[in-house]
Amino acid sequence: MLAVSKAFPIEAIRACADLGQRAFGENYLQEALAKIEATADRGFEWHFIGPIQSNKTRPIAEQFSWVHTIDRLKIALRLSEQRPWELPPLNVCLEVNVSGEASKHGVAVAQVAELATAVAALPRLNLRGLMAIPAPASELEAQRKPFRMLREIKESLAGRGLRLDTLSMGMSADMEAAIAEGASIVRVGTAIFGRRD
Ligand SMILES: *Cc1c(COP(=O)(O)O)cnc(C)c1O
Repeated sequence: MLAVSKAFPIEAIRACADLGQRAFGENYLQEALAKIEATADRGFEWHFIGPIQSNKTRPIAEQFSWVHTIDRLKIALRLSEQRPWELPPLNVCLEVNVSGEASKHGVAVAQVAELATAVAALPRLNLRGLMAIPAPASELEAQRKPFRMLREIKESLAGRGLRLDTLSMGMSADMEAAIAEGASIVRVGTAIFGRRD
């Protein structure tokens, strides 16, 4: 479980860590960097889960263990070039647009294999899997469908020699559906920390 601490203060992160949580997710770079610096002595694992601007890749490459939101090669190339040599390769997931026109983020389903092949070849990235944020749905079966699609895309990549171990899918409102479809990382904010407003 990734605890999504965006919009919550450092005290909330510390309280969550006191219960045993080590991995935290953030969307906004400036906010994340301040939290990483303030908790540097705790050895937390930080995951970047927000949209990435190409001129902001360097601090992401330097400060995070994971990035879940790679949706174009240009960003992946920069992160690989900028990942410091003394750190292990940056773990990455490709964000896949499983909802078609309902989402503007994520690589199109038809382009996933090509992007995955290119990213897997980058020396300082470790392609771990796929991530998705489906359009909201209220019924369990409607929630499961896009997660199932993401799992099937991951399985189809194995046929091309890309063996990935991570499905980053499910948030507070749809984590049961994601887990039922094989999520390996659920990204949970509201259900842990409360509402952001
Ligand atoms: C905010 C956010 C989450 C957590 O959402 P909740 O509904 O608060 O659980 C998960 N993933 C991403 C990419 C987010 O931006």
